[in-house]
Amino acid sequence: MRETCTFCRIIDGVEHGAFVYEDELVVAFLDINQASPGHTLIVPRLHVAAWWELPDAEAAAVARAAKPIMQAMRQVLEPDGINLVQNNGRAAGQVIFHVHMHVIPRWQGDRRFGRPPAYADRQTLDERAAQLRAALDRIRHA
Ligand code: 5GP
Ligand code: ZN
Repeated sequence: MRETCTFCRIIDGVEHGAFVYEDELVVAFLDINQASPGHTLIVPRLHVAAWWELPDAEAAAVARAAKPIMQAMRQVLEPDGINLVQNNGRAAGQVIFHVHMHVIPRWQGDRRFGRPPAYADRQTLDERAAQLRAALDRIRHA
């Protein structure tokens, strides 16, 4: 499964990911289709399809990671709000069957979310990720 799963391949370094955050249990990287600038995915290292299969330790680690990621987004991107979105099962809009949490910065009156998102090139993603990573480092070491 790790060979065929896109998110396992990113976690294992086989495919490129614009990483924002990493710890023992979870990683976070930018979504290749940015629903809004900074749209990030928090992904457990463990390959599990849906939240109802996720061990408590990983579920807690996703929640723990969300807070500093959101704080970094607020510092770097100054959004007016942030959505946490988590889809389980095709009927719920899940496309990648490796559980993940979307963290989506929002701006008052933005029209992007829910519309076809904008594909972002690798350089844009890497630059955005580097800014968020730097802010996260400051937050975690404050
Ligand atoms: P889901 O609909 O399963 O909750 O969301 C899956 C997300 O994964 C989508 O927003 C999609 O853009 C993103 N995605 C799909 N393939 C890749 C990829 O190769 N790299 C990255 N960074 N994101 C991906
Ligand atoms: Zn996987």
